[in-house]
Amino acid sequence: MRRKSKSERKVFVKTPTRNKISFRKSSPGKKPCVECGTQLMGIKRDSTFSLRRVSKSKKRVNRKFGGELCSRCSREIIVEGARKWK
Ligand SMILES: [Zn+2]
Repeated sequence: MRRKSKSERKVFVKTPTRNKISFRKSSPGKKPCVECGTQLMGIKRDSTFSLRRVSKSKKRVNRKFGGELCSRCSREIIVEGARKWK
């Protein structure tokens, strides 16, 4: 057995000779907004290795601060910045 970690998910696998315990990596949870902490939507989460094969548009939202802030927080920051320059 390669990995014997408590943090990894145990899966019982039936083989013709015996029942084995296999360990599967748990996928990461949803990414939170940096400002308010709500879960961001439309962002694929996986190990960094497998995300290399995923296109950029699936890893972040096509918006300024997309992938870091939620829509409400990014809107607030953009409006705040526009008012500053008035
Ligand atoms: Zn937010």
